[in-house]
Order: sequence, then structure tokens, then C-alpha cells
Amino acid sequence: MQTSRATSFLRGKYVAGESEAQGVERALTLLQDCGIRSSLFYMGEYVDTLDLVAQNVENKVKVAEALRDHALDIHISVDPTQIGHHIDPALVEDRAYRIARTIKDAIGNKTDGVNCLMFDMEDASLNDPTIAIHNKLQNEGFPVALTLQAYLYRTEADLAAQIARGSRVRLVKGAFAAGSELAFQSTNEIKDNSRKLIAMMLSQEAREAGFYPIIATHDTRLHDFAIAQARRNGWKPGSYEFEMLLGVREDVAKRLSENGERVRLYVPFGRDWWPHAARRLGENPANAVLLARSLAS
Ligand SMILES: Cc1cc2nc3c(=O)[nH]c(=O)nc-3n(C[C@H](O)[C@H](O)[C@H](O)COP(=O)(O)OP(=O)(O)OC[C@H]3O[C@@H](n4cnc5c(N)ncnc54)[C@H](O)[C@@H]3O)c2cc1C
Repeated sequence: MQTSRATSFLRGKYVAGESEAQGVERALTLLQDCGIRSSLFYMGEYVDTLDLVAQNVENKVKVAEALRDHALDIHISVDPTQIGHHIDPALVEDRAYRIARTIKDAIGNKTDGVNCLMFDMEDASLNDPTIAIHNKLQNEGFPVALTLQAYLYRTEADLAAQIARGSRVRLVKGAFAAGSELAFQSTNEIKDNSRKLIAMMLSQEAREAGFYPIIATHDTRLHDFAIAQARRNGWKPGSYEFEMLLGVREDVAKRLSENGERVRLYVPFGRDWWPHAARRLGENPANAVLLARSLAS
């Protein structure tokens, strides 16, 4: 599917390009043209060879180095399984330090932007190790952020701990399957829990703790809920942000940005683009119809 001409429209829609330079170029264009920030993500998760880990790390590091030469506001998204978790969990720390150190050195004394290493959250077996490495780097003063998933029961406690630490947290609903012993199963329960967690993220207590909320969803009712909470509790636009995926409901992202909200898009790049596009395809029936037509022609 990745090499088929019939699928190339999906690559154009959801992926910035193959190279780190194309990822950075898209981040610059989004910022200059629309005031929208980026989370750059070199694709390639759940890898099991050291060569692929090295390739992943090099691409993250190259993006971090771009911070030296460009006025960017970027998160560099990293999945622990991209940087060696499935080969040897001990390797992850070494690689994460390298990426975080490059970001820190490249930022130098610049104070504009919320540039950081964003730990994405994968399946439930990765929760504890991901939080542990995030906390370790944060304790040592590295610019890091953490993703938490609203579908998990444990997230309320994890979020409370991160609020107390004054962290940067990206809240998502959760893209992995987990059993009812770990996670809410229905869409309504996950939405209700998202609301509860957003209220915690945008509480007065969180603001006073220096917490930085990132609400990552395409759900406009959750955007409205978050904005109402922010207004009620004295959060100014720019002291929290919304994040969405490149190519998904970009009209909503642009409208939020035009209304003065801080918005970030998750901008994937790299050669291994089909798994990411296939997930977007599953979320949007209109794309599935377009793909079927394209394959048939
Ligand atoms: C920036 C970002 C980072 C993420 N990082 C992680 C992570 O680290 N770990 C993790 O488990 N999950 C991650 N996710 C995925 C997340 O967990 C959800 O699976 C995903 O965002 C769908 O939930 P939703 O809240 O956006 O919207 P939904 O409730 O699925 O949808 C809300 C609305 O958006 C529309 N919509 C959704 N997707 C599409 C689409 N492709 N095309 C058109 N319309 C669409 C729906 O039709 C609906 O109207 C991330 C998501 C984002 C936005």
C-alpha cells in the first residue's frame, strides 16, 4: 500500500514528507502562515533492531538540531518502542537523554516557544517505564512532556501526580486496546473521563502549580469544555494549548487559532507512513470511500 499510486493522496494529507527537512519546513510554514505550532514525529514504532533504533534516534536528533537555526516552537514526539524499549529497556534512557540534551543545547537561552521532548504513550505495558523516564529527565532539568490517556483508570492518579510536579501533559483519549480491568470501554465513559481530567488540568490548583495543559483531541465539544474551564479558572490563551493531527479537521484547528487559542499539529514524517495513514483511514469513512475509488480506477 505504501508504494501504490492509489494511496498517495493519503500520504499527502497526513504526512509532511520523507525527510526531517520536509518536517521542519512544514513546521515553519504552519507557524508563519497560521500561527500554528508543531509536534514533529519521525514514524517507526515498535522496532526490534538496533539499526532501526539508530535511524529513529538520528531523525529525532536532526529535528532537535534545527532548533538552533530556526525560530520554531516544536515538540519532538518520541515513542519508547522507537528508541529501543523492545530490545533492551535500559537503552531507552540513554537515547532519550541524547535527544533531550540536543533539544536543551539547541534551545540555549531562547525563551520563545515550548520546545521539548514529548513522550508519546503506547500500550499499557509501557505506562510505568514511560512515566519513570519522563520524571527522571524532568528532575534533571531537561525540557520534557508526557502523554496520558483518558481511557485508563490509572490516569486520574497519574495526572494528579504530574500536576503536583508542574509538568507539561498532553491528554489523549487513547489509541490502544486494554481490558476492562485497566480501561473504560465505552465511548461515553472515555468522554466523561476526558472531561473530568480536563477539569483537573485547567483547575486553579494546576495553574498555581505551574502545570502546562495540552488537550489533544479533534472533539469540538471537549475543546469548548476546556475553553470554558480555562476562562473560569483564570487561564489565559497561550498558557495551555490544543493539539490535533495534521490533515484531520484542520478547519477546526485554524478556527481555534484564529480565535486566539494556542494550537499545535502533530506532524509525522518519514518513509514508513502507511500505518499512520491507515489509522486515519479507519477513523474517517469518507477517506475509505476515496481509497476504494482510487484503487478501482
Ligand atoms: C496530537 C495527538 C497525539 C496523540 N498521541 C497519542 C499517544 O501518544 N498515545 C495514544 O494512545 N493516542 C494518541 N493519540 C490518539 C488519541 O488517543 C485518539 O485515538 C485520537 O485522537 C481520536 O480521538 P479524538 O479525541 O481525537 O476524537 P474522536 O472522538 O475519535 O473524534 C472526534 C471527532 O473528530 C472526528 N475525527 C476523528 N478522526 C478523524 C479523521 N481521521 N478524519 C476526520 N475526522 C476525524 C470524528 O469523526 C469526530 O467527529 C493522539 C492524538 C492526537 C490528536
